[in-house]
Amino acid sequence: MDEFKTVIGLEVHAELDTKSKIYCGCTTEFGGEENTHVCPICSGMPGVLPMLNRKVVEYCVRAGLALNCAINPYSRQDRKHYFYPDLPKAFQTSQFDQPLCLKGYVDIVADGQPKRIGITRIHIEEDAGKLIHEVGQTRVDYNRCGVPLIEIVTEPDFENSAQVHAFLEALREILLYTEVSNCKMEEGSLRCDVNLSIHRVGEPFGTRTEMKNLNSFSAAVAAVQYEAQRQRRVLSAGGKITQDTLRWDDAAGNNYVMRSKEDADEYFYFPEPDIMPMVLSDGYIDRIRQTLPELPAHRRERYVSQMGLPLYDAQLLTVSKFISDFFDQTVAAGAQPKSVSNFIMGDIMRLLNERGWAAEKLPISAQSMAELLSLIEKGAISNSMGSKVIEIMFDEAKSPTDIVQERGMAQVSDAGAIREMCRQVIAENPKIVDDYKGGKVKAITALVGQVMKMSRGKANPSMVNQLLEELLN
Ligand SMILES: [Zn+2]
Repeated sequence: MDEFKTVIGLEVHAELDTKSKIYCGCTTEFGGEENTHVCPICSGMPGVLPMLNRKVVEYCVRAGLALNCAINPYSRQDRKHYFYPDLPKAFQTSQFDQPLCLKGYVDIVADGQPKRIGITRIHIEEDAGKLIHEVGQTRVDYNRCGVPLIEIVTEPDFENSAQVHAFLEALREILLYTEVSNCKMEEGSLRCDVNLSIHRVGEPFGTRTEMKNLNSFSAAVAAVQYEAQRQRRVLSAGGKITQDTLRWDDAAGNNYVMRSKEDADEYFYFPEPDIMPMVLSDGYIDRIRQTLPELPAHRRERYVSQMGLPLYDAQLLTVSKFISDFFDQTVAAGAQPKSVSNFIMGDIMRLLNERGWAAEKLPISAQSMAELLSLIEKGAISNSMGSKVIEIMFDEAKSPTDIVQERGMAQVSDAGAIREMCRQVIAENPKIVDDYKGGKVKAITALVGQVMKMSRGKANPSMVNQLLEELLN
């Protein structure tokens, strides 16, 4: 039994996927020439007045509802003062004691165990700019200044890195399904800070450290494992943990002290006088609630319990909201769930991968997909012909019925025609026929293959098998 317990809390920053910034009309687009997505407001010129982007409030409420939070009907913004060159106003407009969302939770499964992670609060704030360090100079790029963020603060409910990983995956899925953030970690759209402490079982919580700017899930996992081990070593050797802010070095796989307790964050907040408080009506909150999509965990549960799909299928189908929607629409158009799932996980995923296309580029409608599956079910084409038709549909905007007709792909189920081909194959392969008659029953598969080849794959294979047996016996 381990004598130590680890206690972890997260602060996750997600950039909102709005078109324009939080207090001005500048674009939120990633990249661009330095300082080209800026105006007097987001570059902090004196005398300007910010105007709150309504979409930012709406997106934060959407995230809050999807994360089971209570929405604060009265909420306010505050100025968080600190000095750093990437912050032109010398304060960040954020929220202090009246955040938009409070007290939510996310249910996760880690190491096979279900667990509920509490959400303390979610608030809106603006992003800062970026410093670009080069030899002999440092430049500042304010393009990212004023890009809207939500900060999601969790309760200290995590005990290990597996739970942290499962939570980040679940959170990313929810933010993607609700279209609140594009969650592109490589562009810094989702970043997290980790608070971690350990204590001996039965004793009060230990001193915590904070690790900043973990910008991949693997970095978060590695950082949590490293820091928990480091604190164990220190405590086991009789040392003390100091309340430091640490920077994780992902390349080196270790962390180092950025700030120690003497100069710990002592931010000065005061209410933002230029922006009115936000007063949200029940009607407004309900309207947003009604636009929320069915979330991925709920879809997986429905696919398994109502449609009888294996969990494996349910997990693959819900990786993308687009694919999951496509699956649901195809089933709604009359197709069998398992057949749809097989074609999505097989041919469709393979063709998208081969072409390097995002799921959203899928050129097949749910209606066409259902039509194709009904052709297979009726026996008009074989399963393997179905795969060929899908491939053609990736290149040509035609219905599966037209493709099958134009190319003569329909399965031959005409007994007369198949019998004729079987006779011919028997006549041309006396050796195989002798083997079969001599007791090698499996030799018949070679004959079936010959007939299929003669029909160019169109003969109904079970009919071929049956007719060959008839003729040979
Ligand atoms: Zn601007």
